[in-house]
Amino acid sequence: MKFTPERYSIADKRMQPFIDADEIWGFIRETRSTKERVRQVIQKSLNKERLSLADTAVLVNATDPELVEEIKEGARLLKEKVYGNRIVLFAPLYIGNKCTNDCRYCGFRVSNRDAVRKTLSDEEIISEVEALEDNGQKRLILVYGEHPDYGPEYIAHTVKTVYDVKKGNGEIRRVNINAAPLEVEGFRKVLDSGIGTYQVFQETYHPEAYKEYHLGGKKKDYNYRLTSLDRAQEAGLDDVGIGALFGLYDWRFETLALVRHTSHLEACYNVGPHTISFPRIQSAASIGITDKYMVDDPTFTRIIAILRLAVPYTGLILTARENPAVRKEVMRFGVSQIDGGTKLELGSYKTSVNEDQDLNKEQFMINDSRSLNQIIDELLDDGYLPSFCTACYRLGRTGEHFMEFSVPGFIKRYCSPNAILTLAEYLMDYAPEETKRKGWKVVEENLQNLEKNGHKNVPAIRKKIEKIKKGERDVYF
Ligand code: SAM
Ligand code: SF4
Repeated sequence: MKFTPERYSIADKRMQPFIDADEIWGFIRETRSTKERVRQVIQKSLNKERLSLADTAVLVNATDPELVEEIKEGARLLKEKVYGNRIVLFAPLYIGNKCTNDCRYCGFRVSNRDAVRKTLSDEEIISEVEALEDNGQKRLILVYGEHPDYGPEYIAHTVKTVYDVKKGNGEIRRVNINAAPLEVEGFRKVLDSGIGTYQVFQETYHPEAYKEYHLGGKKKDYNYRLTSLDRAQEAGLDDVGIGALFGLYDWRFETLALVRHTSHLEACYNVGPHTISFPRIQSAASIGITDKYMVDDPTFTRIIAILRLAVPYTGLILTARENPAVRKEVMRFGVSQIDGGTKLELGSYKTSVNEDQDLNKEQFMINDSRSLNQIIDELLDDGYLPSFCTACYRLGRTGEHFMEFSVPGFIKRYCSPNAILTLAEYLMDYAPEETKRKGWKVVEENLQNLEKNGHKNVPAIRKKIEKIKKGERDVYF
């Protein structure tokens, strides 16, 4: 994959801030989006080249409905050709909601005196994870407020606790983290506990806007947060996730800033972000923001298509903040990971039967409360291949998204077979009859597709499926 970095007013240096807001606005104001340019940029991405900021601005500024459709179609093509039909599934597990920060958009903010604060005990973590395993989950993201109780040792302890829980054939094979930024030493400790990705969202990349939303606590420091994933990299944690909270500031700025963050990580560490997230603000207790920058559904789809084209090697995550219809729509344009069976209230996987959300106990409102199996059912109906694969990360094939994208045959050799195998495990252990019926059909169709495309490993995959049918688990390439 080719990428010719642009020259920026702030040179990329490790651990140094890299966002120049005027420069980003300059790209937006000065870039023209002619039909020809838009098509060139789409083609560049389809040729597996990373887009520059100027290229991304061309896509962001394209407003002609016909061109917007071409951008979406380009993203769809890229996704289909490069990644195929896999969708990776995970669930969030909130560990503790104590928080010393005062982020105006969040129900956990310290100034929300009505928030019910809770930190799961080890026993509660274990019973939550057992409940998640009973549903068939294999990948979790642990979420924490920012609080002295949730230091690196504590985070590492909770990660180990989660990995130790094995119930029946259930186990969690990949734990990701969404927590406050740490010092280099702290990142090292958390890395040693065996995590996958560490996510820190900048929320808004605009320094002035950032100040307006972050009223108290350590998170007030824009630069400390901006350079947090540099510190992760310095600690050897090269699997990082970036994100912006859409609705805080102009979406065009945030989209370019995400690409700028990507180029910073590439320039300094030779590796871009593993994943990009683009949550949209949802209702929350004590929320104090206007809807000036809210992003509507058509714009949201555009943002996802643009990010897919701009950073074609990175995983794109979409959560249950979005409703089922939006999720279905945007999966076509680039989203590769979604959560399923999501519950935000602390301790609720074990106890609650889909009760209404109590916003003083949860961070924000979700709009997709379907069970994991309902989501898998829909994915199967829509021709996707649900995947719980964790093979690359466990075999040390790091940078897997990058390899999927840039190593010819990688997906057919590893990703599709492993997606099929993890789906087979799910069908054997957790699926109801109707899902089993659909699921085995999808498994067979995918095997035949691989065969049709001349892939020699189909007999080996079939052998492994037989092993799974006989009771073997955690079988992968
Ligand atoms: N406390 C840590 C932090 O702020 O980095 C951990 C992450 S926080 C629990 C998870 C993410 O949820 C935040 O980074 C933010 O982007 C998002 N978030 C907060 N309030 C939200 C809201 N009202 N709607 C949607 N997402 C929200
Ligand atoms: Fe705390 Fe994170 Fe919520 Fe901010 S977004 S109040 S840091 S939990």
